[in-house]
Amino acid sequence: MEKEFDFVIIGSGLGGLYSAAMLAKEGYSVIVLEKNRQLGGCLQIFSRDKVIFDTGVHYLGGLDKGQNLYRYFDYLGLMDVIKFKKLDMDGFDQISFGDDPVQYKVPQGYDNFINYYAGFFPEERAGIELFCDKMREVCAKLPLYNVEVTNDLDFMQFVLNDKPVDEVINSCVKDPALRRLLAGNNALYAGMLGVTPFYVHALVINSYVESSYKCEKGGAQISLALSKIIRQYGGLIRAHAHVTKIETDEKKATCVVLENGEKIYGKKYISAIHPSVTLDLVGETKMLRKAYKSRISMLKNSVSAFIVYVVLKEKTIPTFNHNKYYVKCNDVWNNEIYTEEEWPKSVAIFTTPSKDPEYCDGLIIMSYMQYDDVKQWEDTFNTVAQEDERSEEYQQFKRDKAQKVLDLAEEKIPGIREHMKSFYTSSPLTMRDYIGGEGGSLYGIVKDHRDPLKTLIPPQTRIPNLFLTGQNTVMHGVLGVIVGAVKTCNEILGDNYLITKIKEATLDKQVVNEPKN
Ligand SMILES: Cc1cc2nc3c(=O)[nH]c(=O)nc-3n(C[C@H](O)[C@H](O)[C@H](O)COP(=O)(O)OP(=O)(O)OC[C@H]3O[C@@H](n4cnc5c(N)ncnc54)[C@H](O)[C@@H]3O)c2cc1C
Repeated sequence: MEKEFDFVIIGSGLGGLYSAAMLAKEGYSVIVLEKNRQLGGCLQIFSRDKVIFDTGVHYLGGLDKGQNLYRYFDYLGLMDVIKFKKLDMDGFDQISFGDDPVQYKVPQGYDNFINYYAGFFPEERAGIELFCDKMREVCAKLPLYNVEVTNDLDFMQFVLNDKPVDEVINSCVKDPALRRLLAGNNALYAGMLGVTPFYVHALVINSYVESSYKCEKGGAQISLALSKIIRQYGGLIRAHAHVTKIETDEKKATCVVLENGEKIYGKKYISAIHPSVTLDLVGETKMLRKAYKSRISMLKNSVSAFIVYVVLKEKTIPTFNHNKYYVKCNDVWNNEIYTEEEWPKSVAIFTTPSKDPEYCDGLIIMSYMQYDDVKQWEDTFNTVAQEDERSEEYQQFKRDKAQKVLDLAEEKIPGIREHMKSFYTSSPLTMRDYIGGEGGSLYGIVKDHRDPLKTLIPPQTRIPNLFLTGQNTVMHGVLGVIVGAVKTCNEILGDNYLITKIKEATLDKQVVNEPKN
């Protein structure tokens, strides 16, 4: 008899690992299957010239004692083993726009946030307060976001009637400079004008305004710690385990098949990869109607990115404890739409973990890039484990694009080129190959206010023992993916057993919001 696990989990991104850790802690037998050599999906790091670079997690929100992410991390003991560093209280992000000389800050704490913006736009104070109230109002409606027992009806009701974030901003404040400032870090959710619902902005930005941190030694600390916990509770994790098929009988999923033909059996299956890839793995079955499959596969994915990883010469650029967003023109939206001449329209700049507390070891500079820009090379596949040097034409494309990104970054950090020891790049193809996102998408399926229910993917599929989790179920980002993992596992275990347990275990660390006078 083959071993049958209680749960077979596909993908070792945060969603897969956090789900596995919760279930293993509950005493279930779990196995996590990861196609790559390194675990973690977007939590992966790599090093060049002894500098550590994060691939997909640069900062986290909600980590002050008692806040939502703190409680979810604390439940699994992560707060004791991962080193976090708080970003600048007076500005975790700094945002600037083409012809505006001011380097605006995004402070932590709502009072600081309101007072800082009202300092620039005093006549708009009431509108800024209203906007913040609206953000907090949405966040209060999603119980799992607040480590509360679930009943999502109120949230779903809100989502059904939600407006695009730009429209909500415009309804609260009038000054065009303030409007663009409030949306200035929308790269955090790949915001699209007239499309992105306000709730997406609220859930993401609220967590950072509440508190903003970096992983001191890179995001892989999270995947390492979760893997240890899974193994400690008897769970198994296998790298180089590419799932190529989910087999089914008439009524349920029966096993998954790996690239080498090996079959892994489970009572239940949780897919923590893209939903449309999951359905492709299932293939033909009467349980999945064609309409359901094509609805999922037609959903648009968020834009991808081109990233330049810069290794700096020692003691050249003084460190900074915030992230920088720079939009070349004054339009904070539509930066994902560009002509070749215009590209890149914006950059986001992050520091790497540094050995020297006074100076930066390296910088990560990210710009949106459409998958179409690299489509001509899409038939190639290149990772450390499966090397295939792409053509010289592709390498030249990357070198040219890197220079354009560096040009824009120089405007905010003069001297980057002079202080640079070496640089490396990643394109939408790199993201596709290492993480498996469709088209190298940054944050998965685009949430669209015009069709909100279509873009909110439930954990249940039409196959009774196959469930979904990961960034496409509730929300992307560390907090969003953990909320999604808790949602999936809570629904599988039923009766709000899991969330009640998490809530009670972390209750003494809950934030008590004092009502305002
Ligand atoms: C460039 C970038 C910057 C970001 N910055 C931040 C940030 O600063 N803060 C923040 O909170 N969030 C950030 N995010 C978002 C966040 O990292 C993601 O939302 C989150 O980590 C996604 O987790 P996931 O579990 O959904 O899946 P992923 O991380 O996508 O993991 C999926 C895993 O499944 C594996 N897999 C795929 N197919 C198979 C298969 N067939 N068989 C086996 N394994 C498979 C993949 O190899 C991968 O390891 C960023 C994302 C990107 C891309």
